[in-house]
Amino acid sequence: MPNVIEFNEFTCSANRVGGELTCWLCQKGVSARALFCHHCGTIQPVRDIDHFARLGIERRIDIDQELLDKQYETLKRTLDPTRFIIRGSGERGNAEKQMEALTQAYDTLREPLKRGRYWLTLHMREVDEAEAANPMISELLYEVEAAIAPTDCDRVAQKAGQSLQQGIIDLMQSLRDQHWQQANSILVELDGLESVLAAVRIRRKELSPENGNGENTSGVTEVNNNNQ
Ligand SMILES: [Zn+2]
Repeated sequence: MPNVIEFNEFTCSANRVGGELTCWLCQKGVSARALFCHHCGTIQPVRDIDHFARLGIERRIDIDQELLDKQYETLKRTLDPTRFIIRGSGERGNAEKQMEALTQAYDTLREPLKRGRYWLTLHMREVDEAEAANPMISELLYEVEAAIAPTDCDRVAQKAGQSLQQGIIDLMQSLRDQHWQQANSILVELDGLESVLAAVRIRRKELSPENGNGENTSGVTEVNNNNQ
């Protein structure tokens, strides 16, 4: 039955009848959070739900990391492509898009900085990007430019790395306190610090063209994994 159906609009989020979502195949009502139709068992297209709902966890800034991992693993197994091999292209496409959406949701929620940024967008209609230039960032960028040895770069990287770590702590606190504007300012500063770290990496490479001397930019790699 379902495998003879060709269906291309994998991400159509809204077959809505009177505000209710319906299954793309059998047209009966389904909830936005349901991966599968309760009536015909067909996998549904990606719906417009938030990352917390997609992972089936409580919508909170401080998440239960273990539960998040567990939910992700379970859903990932459910969406495993091998389970849809014999299905029609409509279902295979839905499963693939659901997996993408799941991965994106998981990657966002597991990283405090990404989660904080996402949390803020959920709570602020529009984020005010027009921030005044941050003197600390300008100063650090100037120091990167002025660096004449790899150790100068390491010193800047360490300062930026420490500020980044403290900034993430401050960000989470301001989100808990619902100080959205303050949280936004911190995020802008964190963006600035990340660009400082990127500049340090480039400058350091320029200053050690042989790229052979064992020193490493420890401050950079420690704090900056996964924070793109
Ligand atoms: Zn159905």
